[in-house]
Amino acid sequence: MPISGSEIVKMLPGRKPCKDCGFPTCFAFAMKLATGGATVDKCPYLSPEVKAKLEDLLAPAIKLVTIGTGDNKVQVGNEEVIYRHEKTYVHPPGIAILISDKESDAKVDEKIKKVKELQFPWVGLTLKAELLALHYESGDKNKFLALVNKASASNLGMILISQDLDTLFAARDLCADKKPLLYPITKENIDQAIPKIKEKPTPVGVRGASIEELIPLTMKLKEVGVDDAILDPGSKNLIDAIRDQTFIRRAALKQGFRPLGYPTIAFPCFMAKDGLKEALTASAFINKFAALIVLSDFDQYTLLPLLVQRLNIYTDPRFPMAVEEKYYEIGTPDENAPVLITSNWALTYFIVSSAIEATKVPSYLCVKDAEGLGVLTGWAAGKFTGDQVGAMVKKSGIENKVKNKKIVIPGRVARIKGELEDALPGWEVVIGPREAAGIGAFLPDYVKTLKK
Ligand code: SF4
Repeated sequence: MPISGSEIVKMLPGRKPCKDCGFPTCFAFAMKLATGGATVDKCPYLSPEVKAKLEDLLAPAIKLVTIGTGDNKVQVGNEEVIYRHEKTYVHPPGIAILISDKESDAKVDEKIKKVKELQFPWVGLTLKAELLALHYESGDKNKFLALVNKASASNLGMILISQDLDTLFAARDLCADKKPLLYPITKENIDQAIPKIKEKPTPVGVRGASIEELIPLTMKLKEVGVDDAILDPGSKNLIDAIRDQTFIRRAALKQGFRPLGYPTIAFPCFMAKDGLKEALTASAFINKFAALIVLSDFDQYTLLPLLVQRLNIYTDPRFPMAVEEKYYEIGTPDENAPVLITSNWALTYFIVSSAIEATKVPSYLCVKDAEGLGVLTGWAAGKFTGDQVGAMVKKSGIENKVKNKKIVIPGRVARIKGELEDALPGWEVVIGPREAAGIGAFLPDYVKTLKK
């Protein structure tokens, strides 16, 4: 549970404000600490005990864990709310494909290729799965290590799954620099595993036969300084899994119970018998708190709906999806290209830009920041007025790109024409179609009227 500024201030030195932390008083520093705007080490007068206690109290209720490195790293955890509408979910669950070392080379190659290449452009983002979950099943250690080497060359994040500890750590040694997740650490192997984990620290997946069984395991790991953990409560079916995932989330966030303050992993691949049920199970885990989801396989038809669902659940409900305010080039526009303007709601931008693209008329599309609102709503909210659009056009630099000083505004906001002409001396304002659907009929004829 978050600690308040007034509770923190009681733990600070309470000196005459020395301001060495950069804040005018201890109280101001405490308030910043409570909201995450400062770090404990800024006050040099804290005893090591108080510093450690404050760091513990201020740590996120659910640990942030990173699997993989570089552009392909997956960060999970750090969530602050049970329900998305309370604020927002922060780190979308990583989606992994399971690859057994019993599968043929061709199948292994196909699965790695899927994760690398099955990508979907979606409102300015690229949706994709991220992880390879490598499963030691063959009993042939060398075969598993060869699989790990092959997967490691892909630079994708990895989950190494082996009941055999020697094989698990031999695989880890091949790719420790890539920060794979090691799974499973259990009550049976934890004592043997701890010294090996500490040799080359990477995240670990802790599996219990129940939630209760996880608690002493994470406490033991924390005692020895291993804190990058992912929890698997060993749920046997979807009903149990939803109950367990919810319990862990509530214990971490509502009770501030540190031993369960870690992200979780779920295995639809082991819970469902057919592809459709597996996809539906994964869908439930996207909603109900899993941070890593392992699928036995996927194709575009099962993966895309999951990725879109994940995007929808993990976008911030407080802010509409928006694109950056600037001018965008569609095709290869030159100095005679038409200039159009719209608002920065992502959906508006993509509909308008697609409609322009379909005409094959190279164009400039100016996008005005209307705080993620559509054109008409933005105008009604005072975010798409003639003055503001004029200021944006001047600031964008589009003036230096075109000879024809003409700008097409959406027909729905024809009323800003006069105001915009006042704001943009020397420009002619042209009223375009009311809907993006009209651009196809409008733009090819309009471009012919521009002087060469
Ligand atoms: S450095 Fe420490 S003692 Fe000094 S004002 Fe800041 S919090 Fe207070």
